[in-house]
Amino acid sequence: MSGLATDPRRLDVTALAAADAKLDGNWPLSSFKRLPQGQSQTGHADWLVQASLRRPAGGAAEPWLALTVSARVQLACQRCLQDFDVPLRIGASFRFVADETLAAALDAEAEEDVLPLPQRLDLHELVEDELLLALPLVPMHEICPQPLLAADRLAGTPGSTDAEPARAHPFAALKALKRH
Ligand SMILES: [Zn+2]
Repeated sequence: MSGLATDPRRLDVTALAAADAKLDGNWPLSSFKRLPQGQSQTGHADWLVQASLRRPAGGAAEPWLALTVSARVQLACQRCLQDFDVPLRIGASFRFVADETLAAALDAEAEEDVLPLPQRLDLHELVEDELLLALPLVPMHEICPQPLLAADRLAGTPGSTDAEPARAHPFAALKALKRH
């Protein structure tokens, strides 16, 4: 198989599927620009892709990719604002069909993700999409190591001056997301 077909940024999905090819690799999390980039986003996303051709009853063979990704992403806890490790383990199947209209129609009812077959597939982009989908909406420790509530209680008289620290949290959270 040519190098071009197996360059993960420019995959020839049809050729891979015809060869039942399996590819793996990893990318640094810092290469995914759409992920929240904490100061300590130093890990990797390990990925593995298995291509195959599947023939639906009475139809033409379609290329499929089974993708697994595992990563430990650093996110800021929305309660105590400290970075913590969120382990992500993703398993997804992609079925490639001839065009966008068909893909959209099938995707609505199919369990797998149905995508229009691209000229070349950028696997990096696909892995990034999956990582983003897998992120918790509100990342939070189950139990914060040092709950801020205790600090708030010490800082102010309950019920009178605690409006200020409470308002400060969303901004601090934003800063934590943006800092890089
Ligand atoms: Zn926390």
